[in-house]
Amino acid sequence: MSGKTTPMMEQYHALKQQAEGCLLFYRMGDFFELFFDDAKQAASILDIALTARGKDSGDPVPMCGVPVHAAEGYLARLIKAGCRVAIAEQVETPEQAKQRAKREGTPSSKALVKRDIVRFVTAGTLTEEALLEPRRANMLAAVCEVRGSIGIASCDISTGRMVLESCDPGNLHAALARVGASEIITPDDWAGRLEDTISRPKSDFGSDDGERRLKTLHEVKTLDGFGDFDRAMLAAAGGLISYLEHVGRGDLPLLLPPRVRAGESQLSMDEATRASLEILTSQQGGRQGSLIAAIDRCVTGAGARQLADDLSAPLCDMAAISGRLALVHYLHQDPLLRADLRDVLRLLPDIGRALGRVVAGRGSPRDLGQIRDGLAEARRVRDFLSHKPDRPVLLESLLPLMGGHGALVDLMQRALVAAPPTERQNGGFIAEGYDASLDELRQVSGNARRAIAALEARYRDDTGIASLKIKHNGVLGYFIEVPARHADTLMAPDSGFTHRQTMKGAVRFNSLSLHEEAGRISEAGGHALAAEEEHFEMLAAQVVAARQEIAATADALSRIDVSAGQAERAAEGDWCRPQISEDTVLAIVGGRHPVVEAALAQAGDRFVANDCTLVPEDRLWLIGGPNMGGKSTFLRQNALIVLLAQAGGYVPAESAQIGLVDRLFSRVGASDNLARGRSTFMVEMVETAAILSQATDRSFVILDEVGRGTSTYDGLALAWAVVEAVHENNRCRCLFATHYHELSRLADRCDALSLHHVRAREWKGDLVLLHELANGPADRSYGLAVARLAGISKQVVARAKSVLDKLEKGRAKTGGLAAGLGDLPLFAAVQADDDEPGDPVREKLSELDIDALSPREALEILYEIKRAA
Ligand code: ADP
Repeated sequence: MSGKTTPMMEQYHALKQQAEGCLLFYRMGDFFELFFDDAKQAASILDIALTARGKDSGDPVPMCGVPVHAAEGYLARLIKAGCRVAIAEQVETPEQAKQRAKREGTPSSKALVKRDIVRFVTAGTLTEEALLEPRRANMLAAVCEVRGSIGIASCDISTGRMVLESCDPGNLHAALARVGASEIITPDDWAGRLEDTISRPKSDFGSDDGERRLKTLHEVKTLDGFGDFDRAMLAAAGGLISYLEHVGRGDLPLLLPPRVRAGESQLSMDEATRASLEILTSQQGGRQGSLIAAIDRCVTGAGARQLADDLSAPLCDMAAISGRLALVHYLHQDPLLRADLRDVLRLLPDIGRALGRVVAGRGSPRDLGQIRDGLAEARRVRDFLSHKPDRPVLLESLLPLMGGHGALVDLMQRALVAAPPTERQNGGFIAEGYDASLDELRQVSGNARRAIAALEARYRDDTGIASLKIKHNGVLGYFIEVPARHADTLMAPDSGFTHRQTMKGAVRFNSLSLHEEAGRISEAGGHALAAEEEHFEMLAAQVVAARQEIAATADALSRIDVSAGQAERAAEGDWCRPQISEDTVLAIVGGRHPVVEAALAQAGDRFVANDCTLVPEDRLWLIGGPNMGGKSTFLRQNALIVLLAQAGGYVPAESAQIGLVDRLFSRVGASDNLARGRSTFMVEMVETAAILSQATDRSFVILDEVGRGTSTYDGLALAWAVVEAVHENNRCRCLFATHYHELSRLADRCDALSLHHVRAREWKGDLVLLHELANGPADRSYGLAVARLAGISKQVVARAKSVLDKLEKGRAKTGGLAAGLGDLPLFAAVQADDDEPGDPVREKLSELDIDALSPREALEILYEIKRAA
């Protein structure tokens, strides 16, 4: 059969065409099969056997398969590995296929079951409980540009939260870093502007279309009630919704009314800053070692997701921050209330995600049960809290959102059994007493079951065969079974039994009475299933209709969980409530680094707390001292304290006054990032350039050993110039860690700059790092002592010591690396003098009175200048 393609393979190829580069899961009975390159790729990712199935155009077809009942686990692994999957299901039964073949005149042996792609499974569009991490939001983002402005629509499909924002092209990467999408879609004319995105037709990203879709979706005449959306946002929303429609093959998942992310009211951080502060993931890539891992005490998955959102987008608005802080304070000062509340919250199901599945049409009876229990629990939480005195404003605004579902909860409590199953098709989820006719159907089949049990007893008596049994299986239904040696009794023509099947050691029979009772069971069972199905649809429709209120309840509960978790963490670690102010002070007493402190505590070590006081007159600290002395830790702990405070939580310090920060920057000198394999010095400079151009006098900047990615002279020169520029131009609060002693000379010329160092002592030839910050310049670098600590042999260190002595003697003679730097003019003066004096062209230009020139004269002068140049 060389060169021939079977009808099945033809169907496969056609579907694969529609799969747009996704792996195709081709349903065959109880398996999803993959063929050709898909099979090779999947088999290697999943580590399952790669086999072959028949031939296509003469060649064996590589194949692998996964059982349908276990498909979710395999899907999860494929998605994690970066694949996208199209699911092709059988959309008719083999019976229907045969009948269709008959109608169409094809031989029924050739009848092929029709298959269609029913769904695309992609990283950003998951709703399945098994595929999602409970404590992490799963974001999908659509990005496009309208007249120079970037629109971003982002959405967590599992809960339906949708946010629209717009920004300048320059802030695109920072915005996307904040969103942290697992899948990004862009119009196809954007090729190459972002890495790893999914290209969609440009026509999907029309702003009019986006607006229309949003209006239809939420059944409103105007979007004004949801927020003020610009064209770029609407276009991105259009792209997002079209994509969702596409992957759901027409079905849309839960989408709540969009919210606008307002840029100004947030603390802005770029991608490099987020990475270096290790907010949601550590530099190693996992959650372990990140800020969130060290502070998350939420008892629900939804709370943990909200906390991640808070930390990714801290606020920059006094009232909003104070609102959150007041709620944390309320729960902090009342440990009993907090403990009770957390005990209740801990039992809460994930309402938001259950809702997401129900709206997407993939809900199960269990999801309905979770929504019922969650909403009922929300009411209890509300009643419990509304009896407490002196409630803060934020709590007061959350309470009403947690009730109001009385009728729906009541209905679901009556309709559903206590613990509904995850499968819908077998029924058994509608409670007794809810529907009289369903109860009757169940009674009929119950009676018939009892009748069958009675039949068994009677047949045993009648035949005298004690081992006679009535059994049930999927193929035969109910049957009577006796051991082979007793078969003859039932085989007798007038016995009333008819033979059905002979097995090894046993023979199976039917009887008229059994047939009748079995018929009753299956008929009543079928009707009962249909009735349950109908009730399910009705309940799901009610839930869908109330989706916005249910989502609001879920949000209110997660806000309370976050606040209680923050309060719990604060109590655990003796943290304080930060004072937020509108000035540019940053005054932290006894500050600590939550992640380093936790790691040290595990090893039984103590963290040394340090103060940081930046005020307009002393806003730039240069920090020296030995490697491993604690410089980076100090820099980061202060940035993290700002971030935690502006996210509305307590901070690891004795006290903290934080003048609102508009932008937070964190940069680490290149050599720490060598593993990234890019031209690291280039990266370092690009990132530093961004700070110099963006930091304002309200910003907070930490710079860790910037300049060390290049030769000593270049590095020192750059560090010097960067410090000067930050001091003179940006005038932001800044901590600058460096091992260049020479920079201390800057203290003489920059009046808002002061010198600090991490203390160390040599004791009996060993270096003791005190991790304590002190005023004044570092006296020496202790490089050799650190080398000794790190295990470099005594001989090598001794040799280095003699080299060093020689170098230092040389330095004493010439004045050292920074000799002569003190004579440089001030940075500000350099800028003012930028136009070199004596430049004839400039002189000539400055003498001109342009308004008095005729065009002809102007041209003459241009020629003159050109000749002179
Ligand atoms: P540097 O930037 O000066 O090289 P790091 O900040 O990386 O030093 O700190 C090195 C190590 O010292 C940290 O990993 C931590 O174990 C310890 N350390 C830093 N700061 C402190 C502190 N304040 N208290 C206790 N140990 C600290």
